[in-house]
Amino acid sequence: MPDLKITTITHNDARTHFVSTATVNWVILQDQTGVTLIDGGYPGHADAVLEALSRIGSASQEIRGALLTHAHVDHLGGIARLRRDYSFDVFADPAEVTHARRDYLEQADASTIAPLAYRPAVVGWLGRIVRLGALDKDGIPDTQAFLDPSTLPGSPVPVPTPGHTRGHSAFLSGDGEVLISGDSMISGHPIAKQSGPQCLGHTFTHDVATNEASVAALADLDSVVVMPGHGPMLCGAVGTFVEQALTRPTD
Ligand SMILES: [Zn+2]
Repeated sequence: MPDLKITTITHNDARTHFVSTATVNWVILQDQTGVTLIDGGYPGHADAVLEALSRIGSASQEIRGALLTHAHVDHLGGIARLRRDYSFDVFADPAEVTHARRDYLEQADASTIAPLAYRPAVVGWLGRIVRLGALDKDGIPDTQAFLDPSTLPGSPVPVPTPGHTRGHSAFLSGDGEVLISGDSMISGHPIAKQSGPQCLGHTFTHDVATNEASVAALADLDSVVVMPGHGPMLCGAVGTFVEQALTRPTD
């Protein structure tokens, strides 16, 4: 797993681990009672999730539950694959549950990505994500709506951020110090023309205007670390990153 990198923020006795790969990121919350997964990469990242658990001194039997920022295959796929072998509950925003169960699929497909395929970076990226299981249509049929995530290790707090998908959720950890922003606001993407705080464009976003309103509301948070679904971790006042993301043109 040469591209797996883990950065850890410690708050009191709880740790928030930002796990980044070349294509997508996920987060592991850890305290003395176990671990909570927030997303888990593509289906082909299941072993990388286990490797990350090993690197932080944990293991699959310590997973107390998994939360989804949203049900796109690059965030849900690794969790779905792990559920074949391990037993733990999976939760999502009430508006995202049916998406996670695959009652419908709200994701860019070949026809929506095709107009971008003239760009060499897109061709390489497509090859890489197909090998990671991007075409996998499996959902998680028993995904549950959030009950009380504060009972999970790390005490994550959901922040509804509809737009990227209709039930997208960000999360706070470390008493609000860390914002796990999912794909509402990212800081880079293998096929993005620019790096830095930004919102994904129409190709990958269900409702751009709703997402921008959700991101604007994040500026009120006191978080000083942002862990996005794609791109590097951001350290600084979240309001500054929100301003940059909302003024940067999307493709
Ligand atoms: Zn997404």
